[in-house]
Amino acid sequence: MNYVSTRDKSVKVTAAQAISQGISTEGGLFVPDTFKVFTAEDFKKMSAMSYIERAKYVLSNFLNDFTAEEIDYCVKGAYTGSFDEEQPAPLADIGDGINMLELWHGPTCAFKDLALQLLPYLLTTSAKKVSKGKKIVILVATSGDTGKAALEGFCDVPDTEIIVFYPSEGVSPMQKLQMASQKGENVYVCAIKGNFDDAQTGVKKIFTDNAVKEKLAQNNMQFSSANSINWGRLAPQIVYYISAYCDLVNQGKDVSRGFNVVVPTGNFGNILAAYYAKKMGVPIGKLICASNANNVLTDFINKGVYNRNRDFYTTVSPSMDILISSNLERMLFELSGNDDKAVAKMQSDLAKSGMFTVSEDIKAKIDELFWGGCCDDTATLETIGKVFREKNYLCDTHTAVALNVYEQYKKETGDNRTTVIASTASPYKFAKSVLDAVSDKKADTEFDNVRLLSDVTKTQAPAPIKALENAVVRFEGEIEKETMLDSVFGALKIK
Ligand SMILES: *Cc1c(COP(=O)(O)O)cnc(C)c1O
Repeated sequence: MNYVSTRDKSVKVTAAQAISQGISTEGGLFVPDTFKVFTAEDFKKMSAMSYIERAKYVLSNFLNDFTAEEIDYCVKGAYTGSFDEEQPAPLADIGDGINMLELWHGPTCAFKDLALQLLPYLLTTSAKKVSKGKKIVILVATSGDTGKAALEGFCDVPDTEIIVFYPSEGVSPMQKLQMASQKGENVYVCAIKGNFDDAQTGVKKIFTDNAVKEKLAQNNMQFSSANSINWGRLAPQIVYYISAYCDLVNQGKDVSRGFNVVVPTGNFGNILAAYYAKKMGVPIGKLICASNANNVLTDFINKGVYNRNRDFYTTVSPSMDILISSNLERMLFELSGNDDKAVAKMQSDLAKSGMFTVSEDIKAKIDELFWGGCCDDTATLETIGKVFREKNYLCDTHTAVALNVYEQYKKETGDNRTTVIASTASPYKFAKSVLDAVSDKKADTEFDNVRLLSDVTKTQAPAPIKALENAVVRFEGEIEKETMLDSVFGALKIK
């Protein structure tokens, strides 16, 4: 297998090239040209394995130019010691056939760790193969969780620099503190005046600017991306859906009619990984796409029209405050039967007019695969309170959106199959909102919120959150979005 660009299939590269480059030169995203389909025998084997062994089994199908030793080194390095349980992605059964896939037991308490603990290994191994000696410069635009997870993953990794841009008013206080206090000699964090889409658009522009690329090359540097446009982010996410299926089987759950997956969605990376797992043979039924008030994807799934020309809302689930879902491009490539011309046209329509419409054929496939729903902040907080009271399960604001949309789905369709809900962050990352949802008590500071939440719910805050209270802020201030490039050159100390 090889990787091709979603906008030009004649561009063919290996895994190492796709991962070290991040994005194709004409702006398309790299996707595998074929997918392994696992047999019953494969699943039986994987069911008996540890998470690390499962990850190696799955990833060896994607890392076509990595040796078995390299894959072993990368996967073991990523998942040994960095997660607070034997099992990095455990399932919690909360009754009514609902299994929470808890993806927040890593160092930054959000699901991004599952991919971003591994990406630095994949990237540095790739770079050794394809761009010997060049320093890798990671540029990240973040709506909160990616930034910290990437900083943590790349912190002091030799021959890398990492620069993170986040919208100054678009992240939670805890997320901001996590990033602003990041340690490491090779890290740089910058708040911009604007929203996530501004940050993402700015980063994409810097990435695809040939003059900038040239200047980096003169300094023996090369850009890469830790955003989910990088295939190295997506592949590790496929693993946990496959692993979840093995766990359901091991636990004797009813998967005779398959199981549904619900994903709180922003950039469409996580739910796309679930789709790929389905394509690789996991018996997933509906892919339920849950959005907050920024419901551009709900409308897209229901109407077949993607239209970003709408108000942007800052919500209590900030990691989903996104109007341009980058990874939808990969889904469109799938849905169109790998039609690169059609994808390129839709993406250029999106860039020009902020919208595109899919063909009837694609719309029919969307109806078959997906169900889309959304809820606002009030419903999100009500859901946190209800689930805590009725099931004694405390979830974060993003996961609550998924739980709420799942209830809507069940009510409308009556489909009560076994279900996996992606639980994407620790409730303590959004302590104030979660506390408001379960109690009338009020606290003054963010860490008082954490303590109060712990008292009220009789749950423990994760150690990395507690440790933040004494962290020293290293990065302050904010910049205009037009000056992002200056910040990049400043951080890299080049003119
Ligand atoms: C990033 C994030 C999401 C959205 O995931 P996408 O892959 O961008 O769709 C949802 N919840 C949390 C907590 C996140 O950090």
